[in-house]
Amino acid sequence: MENRGRNSKRLVLVPGPFQGHLTPMLQLATILKSRGFSITIAHTQFNSPDSSAHPDFAFLCIPDGLSEQEVRNPDLAAIVLRLNDNCKSSFRECLSQGTNHTEPGEKICCIIYDALVYFSEAAARDLKIPSIALYTSSAATTIVRPILHELKAQGHIPVPDSMLQVPVPLHQPLRFGDLPTFNFGSLDYFFEVVALAYNLRPSSAVILNTVHCLEESPLAQLNRKYQVPIFPVGPLHKFAPTSAASLLQEDTGCIPWLDKQTHNSVIYVSLGSVAHMSQDQLSEMAWGLANSKEPFLWVIRPGSIPGLEWIESMDEEFKECVKDRGCIVKWAPQKKVLAHEAVGGFWSHCGWNSTLESICEGVPMICQPCFGDQKVNARYLTHEWRVGLELEGEIERGTVERAIRTLMKEKEGEEMRQSVLDLKNKVDFSVGDAGSSCHYLSELVKLLTSL
Ligand code: UDP
Repeated sequence: MENRGRNSKRLVLVPGPFQGHLTPMLQLATILKSRGFSITIAHTQFNSPDSSAHPDFAFLCIPDGLSEQEVRNPDLAAIVLRLNDNCKSSFRECLSQGTNHTEPGEKICCIIYDALVYFSEAAARDLKIPSIALYTSSAATTIVRPILHELKAQGHIPVPDSMLQVPVPLHQPLRFGDLPTFNFGSLDYFFEVVALAYNLRPSSAVILNTVHCLEESPLAQLNRKYQVPIFPVGPLHKFAPTSAASLLQEDTGCIPWLDKQTHNSVIYVSLGSVAHMSQDQLSEMAWGLANSKEPFLWVIRPGSIPGLEWIESMDEEFKECVKDRGCIVKWAPQKKVLAHEAVGGFWSHCGWNSTLESICEGVPMICQPCFGDQKVNARYLTHEWRVGLELEGEIERGTVERAIRTLMKEKEGEEMRQSVLDLKNKVDFSVGDAGSSCHYLSELVKLLTSL
């Protein structure tokens, strides 16, 4: 049961309702709980977290009014806008009633909210409670988002082909083609979300799940540009390694399979919790993996291939060809997988959590960014930190096979492995007692205590 001290300070944390947002918020909650705060997780009904995995927190479900049809909408920006419209007053009401998530006399000292659920900030302002935003993407993504609005005003969205390779001035190594746009759903909705969610002004501070040694330059730019204190306290999972946040059931059966593989031999493949692939892409990925002759662990999320339940169309010839050399699961315990000594490479969509998790385990990457901030992360992985190589253009079995061989067997891959191990050591230092993230975490706790 939660220990609700009468005089303790309570924080209300509001996660964004997607896996890549929920995970860092629950990690932050775990960290702040360990620093003596009482925690309430206020979440939408849509993609709600598993409260039984967190007996130390109080949970508050915000009625979000989404219909069955709205929940199934593939346009995530449309869902985000609707949630924000629907939740502002219901959240304010939940907070002002305050019956099931605070003790008598207990004060909510701050609302920490994911930038996507910006209704929280509006409710906090109405109730005169201080608020702090958590941004779950990198500092590089955060600093370049406003450029998208400039491009839109100039009529350059979608970014024309002639600009895709052009460097973005002052934001090396990014090119205009790497800027975090979406290639599905309504662009108008997308821009509305960016304008409403990623506007640093209203909050009293911003927490970033990043680390100074990875993003010195974008962090310096953020500090110059915005007046609010910025706390780069990541990678959060390093401070909260046991925090459980999976929305899907993890298949731990892949760990005994990994135990049977040799050191650094396995390529782990996952495109995260949102990205989709076509049946053609599935087939090209499958044959690229098969032809590489390397062992692989592949996460294919049910529903991630339009028109298929799971992998029922995977051809028998492929299964016959790979036999026990491949293990396919619906959802993996990713952090355990990356930490496993058999895993020698990560073919990833480069979501920010996956990027940090791979760096922290010293695993070099094959980058297949699909949309949004993944393109920014992939560019940093390949051209700034030099710990990954990018699969560019259409996914095709020959390119896949070559990329896997390069990463797992060739000198170029070996150099990336060395670079990512160097980076891992720097990150390990940052989360240690004398490191930058540890310092910013103490500063954040000081600020929260003073509220
Ligand atoms: N993840 C997992 N099992 C899987 C695939 C992903 O636990 O099989 C986790 C992964 O560890 C990461 C999160 O899901 O923490 C995905 O977040 P990310 O930012 O990488 O990508 P997104 O899903 O938001 O596109």
